[in-house]
Amino acid sequence: MTNMRDRMKDKKRIVIKIGSSSLQHEETGDLDYTKLDVLVRELCDLRNRGKDVVLVTSGAVSVGKKAVMMEKTDEDNPTAVKQACAAIGQARLMMTYQKIFAEYNQVAAQILMTKNTIIDNLNRFNARNTFAELFKLGVVPIVNENDTVATYELGIGDNDTLSAIVASLIDADMLLLLSDIDGLYTDDPRKNPDARYIEVVEELTDELMEMGKTSTGSSAGTGGMNTKLQAAKIASSMGVDMVIANSADIKVIHRILAGQNIGTLFMAHRDAAFDLPLYVQQMTHE
Ligand code: GLU
Repeated sequence: MTNMRDRMKDKKRIVIKIGSSSLQHEETGDLDYTKLDVLVRELCDLRNRGKDVVLVTSGAVSVGKKAVMMEKTDEDNPTAVKQACAAIGQARLMMTYQKIFAEYNQVAAQILMTKNTIIDNLNRFNARNTFAELFKLGVVPIVNENDTVATYELGIGDNDTLSAIVASLIDADMLLLLSDIDGLYTDDPRKNPDARYIEVVEELTDELMEMGKTSTGSSAGTGGMNTKLQAAKIASSMGVDMVIANSADIKVIHRILAGQNIGTLFMAHRDAAFDLPLYVQQMTHE
């Protein structure tokens, strides 16, 4: 185990995903500025250590809903309402991030993606080049799904999968999913007291993938354990190590990258036959 974690110290290009539930106060659904501040500070510090860093953040829809004080979804046109909220919330979310990044003398950029960004050859090529250029400039790309235009057909659907796709696209060597759970369990620990915690997944077996389908996630984001295992499949096949860790203490970011045994580690097994655009094209989601 120690050796496996040692390789975390050498990671050069890191994608960090944070979910809506980790960014909001549970009681009110409003943004947790203390957490956001620690998150941005951790990311800026990784930049200061010379690493390439990408943040995949949710929150567009929920921040937008809050901004217009929308209590519940409009049953008649849920997609349009969700997309309008995302348009409002994404800008507000970015404004908040920009302010905090600026406090640490760091420049952040926004990249919004859909399925087409990966499937279409020219779009994919452009996106890769943009990321590469941003890294050269020392900028931190902040990524979300383009929720204002991504309907069911165009949508990736959840940010766990999106972050794995981004990590694959930019040849990252590490993906860190910050969630409201410590890592992978044999069952949902909130429901089953006998659920066992799994420290490391050396191989993603069919049995493990099946297990994810029966587990649940939090209500704020879209990602349960199933989407995290799907993300692990993409990341692993593309040669990216992945860790799921609890966002209760955001400072786990630097501890994990210092090689500490925190969260569940999914070991990468590059599969030369894995075709990312084809996989994304065939993907289905709820
Ligand atoms: N893209 C969505 C948002 O920013 C969230 C998707 C997710 O939670 O996985 O609101």
